[in-house]
Amino acid sequence: MSLNSHIEWTDATWNPVRGCTKVSPGCKHCYAETFAERFRGVKGHPYEQGFDLKLVPEKLTEPFSWRSPKLVFVNSMSDLFQEGVPDRYIEAVCRVMVTAKWHTFQVLTKRSARLRELLSGRLRFAAEQGHIWWGVSVEDRKYGLPRIGDLQQAPARVRFLSVEPLLEDLGAFDLSGISWVIVGGESGPGARPMRPEWVISIRDQCRVQRVPFFFKQWGGVRKAKNGRELDGRTYDEYPRRVTAPVPDRVRCAEFAESILNSFRGLANPGALVQVGV
Ligand code: SF4
Repeated sequence: MSLNSHIEWTDATWNPVRGCTKVSPGCKHCYAETFAERFRGVKGHPYEQGFDLKLVPEKLTEPFSWRSPKLVFVNSMSDLFQEGVPDRYIEAVCRVMVTAKWHTFQVLTKRSARLRELLSGRLRFAAEQGHIWWGVSVEDRKYGLPRIGDLQQAPARVRFLSVEPLLEDLGAFDLSGISWVIVGGESGPGARPMRPEWVISIRDQCRVQRVPFFFKQWGGVRKAKNGRELDGRTYDEYPRRVTAPVPDRVRCAEFAESILNSFRGLANPGALVQVGV
């Protein structure tokens, strides 16, 4: 976990899964892969296996250890709905999120078909929670726009789009049932450019359809230089958050223990150490 995440639209990251495989053009310069591969072969490092898929059950109960409510980006270093993650493990992640309702969780995927199927069935209990926001990545028309349709068909209470890296003009698209749109350009070496008119088109559609709009960055090779202003201002809108008090440490430890007990075989008792008991 990383508190004080450098990602503009979240407070913390939580990674009960590490590693992923590329599925579409938006993955080309995946920052998670670049970071993880730096440590391949480094003995004892969390990314000793580079960007290979790895379940991290000892991280499952981590949100119970945070003593203030957080906006939590789930699996910033992976994709929860990728093929190699068992349904039962995704369910365990969802049980933690549903129980830790004092946090707001942001789950973002490019595997929108699996998200739609699971939220319509096994994960229905999590789909309908107002403190869990379900999102898909939208980088272009061919791969990105169909994901919006999958998300709209999923019975999620809060749906969002991460339009990043925006690689072309998306044209007009349907925002019904969408509660939040984030837009950003690609950053770092080899960053593909994003044109202002593509961003303005999305912002204007959000205005018309009354969807909160968050402009993350222009990106580019030197992203700090390009900033995050659009038409002379920043856009930092969010959906409404549900708030709840954080229970005391003993209660949090009981929650963690109960979840670990119901998912024996996925997690080990060592995970309780994270809760501070
Ligand atoms: S889906 Fe996300 S985490 Fe996975 S390779 Fe693509 S950009 Fe990286």
